[in-house]
Amino acid sequence: MNLLRPNLYVDSLTDIPLERLQQQGIKGFVLDLDNTITEWNKNEVASEVIEWFNRAKQLGFKLCIASNNKEERVMQVARVLEVPFLSKAGKPRRRSFKKMLRLLDLEVNQLAVIGDQIFTDILGGNRMGLYTILVVPLSSREFIGTRIMRRFERLVLPYLDKEEVERP
Ligand SMILES: [Mg+2]
Repeated sequence: MNLLRPNLYVDSLTDIPLERLQQQGIKGFVLDLDNTITEWNKNEVASEVIEWFNRAKQLGFKLCIASNNKEERVMQVARVLEVPFLSKAGKPRRRSFKKMLRLLDLEVNQLAVIGDQIFTDILGGNRMGLYTILVVPLSSREFIGTRIMRRFERLVLPYLDKEEVERP
């Protein structure tokens, strides 16, 4: 149960308290793509999201995208946001997160995972000992496998309280 629990649960990227996380020693973010940065399989990036990326970069955060989606799809969005990326990441396996740590040259306690799925983003991040941030999915149009996982997430979500911010 504890491995399925994010450190932080927010409505969207723009609700992530960047300054506070910086004070806590977080220096970088590995972001999920589908339903975290854009709607599922869509290439349009909302202006608020572009602004959030710019603000995070200005604050000195290192950013990258790790997605289980295919390369051409992930590359298009990564180009718009001007961040490195990993496609077909194989989350929740630890390998993708280890690659991101090396790529960003950060320690485990300096990297935070941001994603909309408990069983890939949060589970994978927690298994690596990373700080984990769950966001509410941008849309409900999803890959069928994801829709099935949502049913399991609904069993877990009642135990998560968005107001409850910190886990020791
Ligand atoms: Mg996602």
